Amino acid sequence: MSGIVIVGAGECGTRAAFALRETGYSGSVTLVGAEPHLPYERPPLSKPMNGTVQMKLICAEDVLRAAGIDYIKGVSASKLDVDARTVLLTDGRLLPFEKLVLATGARPRKLGCPGAERALDLRTHADAQALFASVGPGRSAAIIGGGLIGMELASVLRGKGVAVSVIEAAPKPLGRAVPPRFAAKLHARHIAEGVDFHLDRGVSAINDDGVLLTDGNIVRAQVVVSAIGVMPEITLAQDAALATGNGILTDTHLRTSAADIFAAGDCAAVSQPGGGHIRFESWRNARTQAETAARNMIGSPEAFAAIPWFWSDQYDLGLQVAGLPQPEHQSVVRRYDDGELEFYLDGGRLVAAAGLGFGNALAKDIKLSEMLIAAGVRPDPAALADANLNLKALLKSVRAA
Ligand SMILES: Cc1cc2nc3c(=O)[nH]c(=O)nc-3n(C[C@H](O)[C@H](O)[C@H](O)COP(=O)(O)OP(=O)(O)OC[C@H]3O[C@@H](n4cnc5c(N)ncnc54)[C@H](O)[C@@H]3O)c2cc1C
Repeated sequence: MSGIVIVGAGECGTRAAFALRETGYSGSVTLVGAEPHLPYERPPLSKPMNGTVQMKLICAEDVLRAAGIDYIKGVSASKLDVDARTVLLTDGRLLPFEKLVLATGARPRKLGCPGAERALDLRTHADAQALFASVGPGRSAAIIGGGLIGMELASVLRGKGVAVSVIEAAPKPLGRAVPPRFAAKLHARHIAEGVDFHLDRGVSAINDDGVLLTDGNIVRAQVVVSAIGVMPEITLAQDAALATGNGILTDTHLRTSAADIFAAGDCAAVSQPGGGHIRFESWRNARTQAETAARNMIGSPEAFAAIPWFWSDQYDLGLQVAGLPQPEHQSVVRRYDDGELEFYLDGGRLVAAAGLGFGNALAKDIKLSEMLIAAGVRPDPAALADANLNLKALLKSVRAA
């Protein structure tokens, strides 16, 4: 029996394999991964504990074996034949499939300037090992890109005594995914920690001295890191003539344009009820889409409707964002001793929440906020701003009603 093949053994592909078993699927499950390791988590790569890069495994080999998941590592899928229902691997094997999951993730976006090849990336465990081996106290690093990965890396490198510069093309760092209130607070913290920002500047070249900026200045650095975002890994799908755009296009059930082929995780751009496709790049999204795809493959159809959520750790601060805050939303701020929550209301309805606080201090209330968002509450903004309002009690009363 040809069973289900999953291409990509990151968070999403691996979770999909286990989710298939959890749904009771007993056919063969083959997980193909290009990297030479057991499946591992990426978030710890930019949050090394005690200064050392961790390889946090998603599962051990015997756990894969016990679940009857055939894991082929260090091998890529090089060709997908949609009509023949086969996947060709780089080692020459041809895998037939009944159903296929594309969980090919994303790869770092590359700089286009002279000397771009000198810049290090941070996507894989090998990247993290190379990067952290090249820095230490008294060294200098220029990080190109003031997004989440760049800013997390800046905080880790400052903790290691590295002189850090961040170069960002936009006028402010963290402008894409982080609500402005918290982006500004994190920016201020980085400045206080001694990070040197070069905002609103492009990169002309990278050379022996460091990074030459478009304004003619040079940012001197011994190590240059490119953290300018990722591109969805869609080559396999594109070559097989599946519908693609900013990702492998899927319907709301995570089905691609080809029958019995699903896509999930960082590589998937999912159709939205209001039109268009959205691609998320977060750990939880990779897991929840994997679970939805698995359930849809074994025939209990459900639309993907999870509330987006991500976190980021910088210095001793923890950021969490649930939902998709938009500038036009009404903002309600709730202050705690150890942080702040900001709620976002759309026409009176709670649609998103974000929090920034020391460590994990706000995790419980963010979780409750997520549940309130899912419940579609229309809270009184003044009451919401009052830290004495117990969110658990509010949720209970909404559910009772
Ligand atoms: C340094 C770092 C820190 C992060 N921190 C956070 C965080 O704090 N919070 C958060 O929410 N998210 C974070 N993320 C994002 C999160 O890790 C990703 O969203 C998640 O890993 C996506 O999982 P995925 O399985 O879809 O893709 P990936 O993790 O990219 O896995 C895809 C896998 O498929 C393999 N592959 C690709 N093509 C083929 C092929 N043709 N054949 C075989 N294999 C193939 C790739 O080699 C890769 O191993 C972080 C990411 C990075 C890089």
